[in-house]
Amino acid sequence: MPATMQAVVKAGREPGAEVREVGVPEIGPQEVLVRVRAASICGTDLHIYNWDRWAQRRLRLPLIFGHEFCGHVEWVGEKVVATKPGDFVSAEMHLACGHCFQCLTGQRHICQNVRIIGIDADGCFAEFVRIPESNIWKIDPAIPMEYGAILDPLGNAVHTVLAGEVAGLSVAVTGAGPVGLFAIAVAKACGGGPVLATEPHPYRQKLAWKMGADAVIDPSSSDPVAEVLRLTQGIGADVVLEMSGNPLGVRQAFQMLRRGGRISLLGIPAKPVELDLANDVIFKGAVVQGINGRRVFDTWYRMQALLKSGALKLGPLITDRMPLSSFEKGIHLLLSGNASKILLYPDGKQ
Ligand code: ZN
Repeated sequence: MPATMQAVVKAGREPGAEVREVGVPEIGPQEVLVRVRAASICGTDLHIYNWDRWAQRRLRLPLIFGHEFCGHVEWVGEKVVATKPGDFVSAEMHLACGHCFQCLTGQRHICQNVRIIGIDADGCFAEFVRIPESNIWKIDPAIPMEYGAILDPLGNAVHTVLAGEVAGLSVAVTGAGPVGLFAIAVAKACGGGPVLATEPHPYRQKLAWKMGADAVIDPSSSDPVAEVLRLTQGIGADVVLEMSGNPLGVRQAFQMLRRGGRISLLGIPAKPVELDLANDVIFKGAVVQGINGRRVFDTWYRMQALLKSGALKLGPLITDRMPLSSFEKGIHLLLSGNASKILLYPDGKQ
């Protein structure tokens, strides 16, 4: 075991981050040390890199960030029971407290005291990451290695799509960022149709088609509500999955929902959003759901089954691969909008 490792460290209270040589984390008795094989950049990492208001309030520095990864277990604590060195794993990076009302009633994904590895504790943009055994997820050998690094956002999509019925129903996905794109693929794999995506960015529109969308609507050149009504015989979408967090996108998402339909919201608006509750929720009899994280581990098991069925082809969403030391190139590529999931390899071998 080396004593030090390369890691992406956010050290200064200003935009940016740097690769540094830091100590390899020490693990506690119920923790596991994982040698990171591949990590993936999330939108959250862009907020951290850019040092926006959310990051300024939330983060304590210095911090190794990153929370999407897969790797091999290198070392286990003395009280670790079911995880062995060599296991190929990912992890649920939301650490639930285990003692609040939600944790005690089977709702760990909305724990009152959640801490997130890569945000509230050192994360996976490093050669090694420390994870409690209770949060380790063993990756089935039938699943392609690279998919292991994107289970966290794919899990967001699986949680959102499967939060209600979807088979034989029309599904509108508003916003084709990575989770929206995953949601298109999951909705198709689960028998949803037509699956209609709205997305203004041309690069993401192309990926939405590749993920199997039956129609991709550009809200900057046509009215997405009118288009969804036209494509659903004037009824509106049975299911709307709001992935954009954009205030106008959120209002349009409610407007394109049919009466009695289900809308599940995952996109996070930066500010409060004004809605026409009377017309778009109450008179409509809409079922409205907030979606946070992944159900632990229900969502993980369903995601694994979907991946093993072969119905999810996610390859086109991994648009770039690079060594961890080039992470800034990846960040800027994502900020340009001309990338979706970017994998970082700490050992440089892709
Ligand atoms: Zn809790």
